[in-house]
Amino acid sequence: MVKVPNGQMVKWGKGSCKQAAQSIGEMSESALCSGMSSTSETGPRGHAGEGGTLVAEPVLRTAEMHIYRPTEPTLGTIVRNELCTAGRKAAGFVRHIEIDVSGTDLVGRCLPGQSIGVIPEGVDANGKPHKVRLYSLASPSRGEDGEGKVISTTVKRAIDEHWETHGLFLGVCSNYLCDRKVGEKVKLSGPNGKRFVLPARFDEHQYVFVATGTGIAPFRGMIKDLLGSGCKSTIALVMGSPYSTDLLYHDEMTKLSKEHGNFKYITAISRESNGAHGKLYVQDRFRTDAEVLMPLLSDARTLVYICGLAGMELGIFQEMARRLKGEALEQYLKVDPAAMADIGAWQRSMLHKEVKPTRRVFLEVYA
Ligand SMILES: Cc1cc2nc3c(=O)[nH]c(=O)nc-3n(C[C@H](O)[C@H](O)[C@H](O)COP(=O)(O)OP(=O)(O)OC[C@H]3O[C@@H](n4cnc5c(N)ncnc54)[C@H](O)[C@@H]3O)c2cc1C
Repeated sequence: MVKVPNGQMVKWGKGSCKQAAQSIGEMSESALCSGMSSTSETGPRGHAGEGGTLVAEPVLRTAEMHIYRPTEPTLGTIVRNELCTAGRKAAGFVRHIEIDVSGTDLVGRCLPGQSIGVIPEGVDANGKPHKVRLYSLASPSRGEDGEGKVISTTVKRAIDEHWETHGLFLGVCSNYLCDRKVGEKVKLSGPNGKRFVLPARFDEHQYVFVATGTGIAPFRGMIKDLLGSGCKSTIALVMGSPYSTDLLYHDEMTKLSKEHGNFKYITAISRESNGAHGKLYVQDRFRTDAEVLMPLLSDARTLVYICGLAGMELGIFQEMARRLKGEALEQYLKVDPAAMADIGAWQRSMLHKEVKPTRRVFLEVYA
């Protein structure tokens, strides 16, 4: 599902790709259908909670979009391309890739939370040019260079055994990008998206960011924007990965949390023990680190951002429903009374129906 600018939810299935494509500009319908899946929720409007309580909702930063269309892309130059996993023996290959966009109209106009389009070289199985793929910006608004000339993203190589042929399956664009050498050019479009961004006034809110895998990309840029501005709000990042070797930007986040008392960096490893706590999913941290996260989530100014693997939001919402009561929960979720009676039975199909995130929950997930 993706929320398009008119506020409607669009399911990422065959019949709906056209509508979703229109929301992303001239990106082709077929490109959107080829392995991209995204959910985006929220907007800068007021929302009356049950009982008429008005909950604080954010006015978002203004994000420019579609400066370059996929049909008329610009060129960027790779200036850095390195693994950003915590260990060299990580289960996945994820690279931090920096692209110099000097001389293009993208300079200083890309916000964390937006994505950039990449058009790989070559043709597909039908002999047609490859379609654009989207990658979340990992850079802060001022870029990696402080001048907005160098943007970055976090790319996971799509590598698998082919479902049908059993041959090696290599995703086209992720491997194309990860293979690029410093000095090589890439075709870029975008930026895309305007709803998964920070609020205009950073200090008016507190922040809970929950990421899995490359879902950390937008939060890296956002956290750098917040801390770099001197924002004194409490900022928590809960980062999940299967193994500790697969944590992304781990040293950088650890360093930032040591330098800034208001930034809490919390990891959740799902296939290894987390000290005394055993194996943990991101939502389990609401229980193990309740002393940090529950007061934050109960605060009427807090915004929750979720980014990463499709499906991760369900467990997070269930844990929020179990642990937050009354108005504290209604700030984030409107739940049908019947669904509230059996939180353990929630399915992903109930999201945005029986279980509706409010406009203080920002969601972007992809397959
Ligand atoms: C808003 C948004 C932001 C994104 N941000 C990021 C990001 O920051 N970092 C990132 O890495 N990705 C991100 N993605 C995902 C990214 O756009 C691509 O979808 C991803 O990199 C895969 O593209 P690819 O060209 O490598 O794979 P493709 O060549 O497009 O292959 C993927 C397709 O192949 C099929 N497939 C997958 N596995 C197999 C298999 N084993 N056998 C046969 N078929 C298979 C899938 O159905 C899928 O349709 C984002 C997506 C969206 C929508």
